[in-house]
Amino acid sequence: MIESLLIANRGEIARRIIRTARRLGIRTIAVHSDVDSGMAFVREADEALPIGPAPARDSYLRQDRILEAARKSGAQAIHPGYGFLSENAKFAEAVIAAGLVWVGAPPAAIRAMGLKNAAKQRMIAAGVPVTPGYLGEDQSPERLQSEADAIGYPVLIKAVAGGGGKGMRRVERTEDFAAALASCRREATSSFGDDRVLIEKYILSPRHIEVQVFGDTKGNVVHLFERDCSLQRRHQKVIEEAPAPGMDAATREAICQAAVKAARAVEYVGAGTIEFIADASEGLRADRIWFMEMNTRLQVEHPVTEAITGQDLVEWQLRIASGEPLPLQQDQLEIHGWAMEARLYAENPATGFLPSIGRLDHLRLPETLRIDSGVEQGDEITAYYDPMLAKLISHGASRQEAARKLGEAAGQVEVWPVRSNAGFLGRTLRHPDFLAGAVDTGFIDRHAEDLVPPSEPAEAVLQAAATALLPKQSQDVWTALTGFRLNAEIDRQVAVDVGKRLYLVQVNGAQTTVRMENGVLFHDGEAWEFGAPRAGHAGHGGGSSDGTIIAPMPGIIIAVSVAQGDLVKRGQPLIVIEAMKMEQVLHAPFDGKVAELRASQGNQVVEGSLLVRIEGDG
Ligand code: ADP
Ligand code: ADP
Ligand code: MG
Repeated sequence: MIESLLIANRGEIARRIIRTARRLGIRTIAVHSDVDSGMAFVREADEALPIGPAPARDSYLRQDRILEAARKSGAQAIHPGYGFLSENAKFAEAVIAAGLVWVGAPPAAIRAMGLKNAAKQRMIAAGVPVTPGYLGEDQSPERLQSEADAIGYPVLIKAVAGGGGKGMRRVERTEDFAAALASCRREATSSFGDDRVLIEKYILSPRHIEVQVFGDTKGNVVHLFERDCSLQRRHQKVIEEAPAPGMDAATREAICQAAVKAARAVEYVGAGTIEFIADASEGLRADRIWFMEMNTRLQVEHPVTEAITGQDLVEWQLRIASGEPLPLQQDQLEIHGWAMEARLYAENPATGFLPSIGRLDHLRLPETLRIDSGVEQGDEITAYYDPMLAKLISHGASRQEAARKLGEAAGQVEVWPVRSNAGFLGRTLRHPDFLAGAVDTGFIDRHAEDLVPPSEPAEAVLQAAATALLPKQSQDVWTALTGFRLNAEIDRQVAVDVGKRLYLVQVNGAQTTVRMENGVLFHDGEAWEFGAPRAGHAGHGGGSSDGTIIAPMPGIIIAVSVAQGDLVKRGQPLIVIEAMKMEQVLHAPFDGKVAELRASQGNQVVEGSLLVRIEGDG
């Protein structure tokens, strides 16, 4: 067994590899960019070396610096993780040429599977069913167009060098083909430096089914069953599970054998994933599942396979790279229960999933299930790297149980001020169609309305905010308001600012599951900033420096808590105005006297009308 290992990666995957290496007694060496020097993976490794500035091309993609770090630290082996250099055949060769052990696929297999068109040709030769389409050398727009017409629409144009969901265009009609091709080529050139494309039939009701395979240096290949990664957004995986819902034993056998055949065809060694696309319009059927591509590395979603097989895939990789045979034979592997993984991202579903960068002032992850994470509270989410915060992995006896556990865990996630997709994940995991297994790659688009964040906080959140503010506001100034309503409960009515909107909440004393910390409420994976309404409240106007209080919106005056001539304190509530179910409290901008009062309860006012004028003390 190797004794020391350099990990040419960062964050969550570096920590994941360190965990297993440590258990096996292997010394670990981290490499890191300048901005990553304080991160957990750097601390957790036995040794750590800087390899350059933040941009990946100046650090994590610098083959020379990584090899230099291996030499300096005396590392015996290099694990590339996923992403970065993991599927770079030249790097694999350089590692081997330097006399180091490469914990990855053989360079020849990486090359064979690196380009999607060549990989598919190889698979056709090996007798593996591939997605119907055009793989030819002739890349003229005319030829590609006529091939697309012959395949029949919709078609998918794919960059042959593509990956990570990039360089793909779905085309619905022949008239749209030329423009889609041009735009696909631009993206392929800028992202992969290669503008060649292939064309595939766009499979309807598509499900992404992939098979985990492992080969050893003795020529043995086994599979560790399938994963279903159909829950995607823009061709990128969001929730993955194993096994695949609705997969019967015969279909599983057929697809897993096809995957083993594919791996054997390229003399595969180590961990790999064969990705298939299935036409699930009539359920999963062996004759409607086609090879799509092979990823010659460990996969982000490997934990679901670990959960159902009880195996540690990183350990398998390290043993195989050390020359040991496969830890288990095919007939020793079985599926136990059901596992699901959700990718928690620093992104904002309310703004079309824009990445959310900044400092993780507050980060609390659930403790009820497996979490693979690279970040900790206080870390910075930057634009340099993948915005993944963590992977949440559940395991249960049934699919329902795994989904329930994962949904609950997503609801417990607390992140602030960075935004996350936790609430979105929870709503997805609880969606009746998801629970029924009715999932294909169009699920998120189809159910977008049910999944995006609520624009208004839940009643539980308002209650929690109001209760938190109750002691303060029920004192002095608020008692002044009581006279304006006959309701005996009026003194339990509190004005709160939640998510930069104002609400007048009748406190009902009900128990809620909302958690509060530092002025933020956490509920169902969503985070809401709250506080007492302030004078000159952001975006709503109301107070002004010259002491005139005008109506910030058209509405009805529902309470007036001062009379002409009264002395008022800065911040004291003067008037409550209501419009479109929203209530806003207008406050005194400074200490002074009510010089003019034009508002009375029940008045309808137009935006901009003068309500009160306060004259300062001096
Ligand atoms: P996978 O195919 O392993 O499920 P994706 O398709 O989401 O993963 O990943 C797209 C590319 O980005 C892959 O090359 C993957 O290795 C890489 N990648 C994804 N997430 C991360 C991460 N958190 N850190 C580093 N690389 C990543
Ligand atoms: P990448 O290298 O970016 O992972 P893939 O070829 O694996 O590219 O495709 C990514 C995703 O695009 C798949 O998971 C699937 O959702 C969708 N996709 C790919 N090919 C097809 C197809 N022929 N029909 C329908 N969807 C497809
Ligand atoms: Mg893929």
